[in-house]
Amino acid sequence: MKQKYYLNNRMQANGDYEVHASTCKYFPLMYSVTYLGEFDTCSDAVRAAKRRYPQANGCYYCSNPCHTT
Ligand SMILES: [Zn+2]
Repeated sequence: MKQKYYLNNRMQANGDYEVHASTCKYFPLMYSVTYLGEFDTCSDAVRAAKRRYPQANGCYYCSNPCHTT
């Protein structure tokens, strides 16, 4: 099932930019996001995000399979 994914424009402390699904519980807390599109998997969303920020990373909570430390 496709989900809508967003990129948090606020850099994390480690330099990562996190990719979140619209269903993420942290999504309402973000004040600046870029809509990436609808994707079947978080890895597709992260790939799209890396065109904007090379250090994009999946959210630990909503995109855990795509989260790297
Ligand atoms: Zn998330």
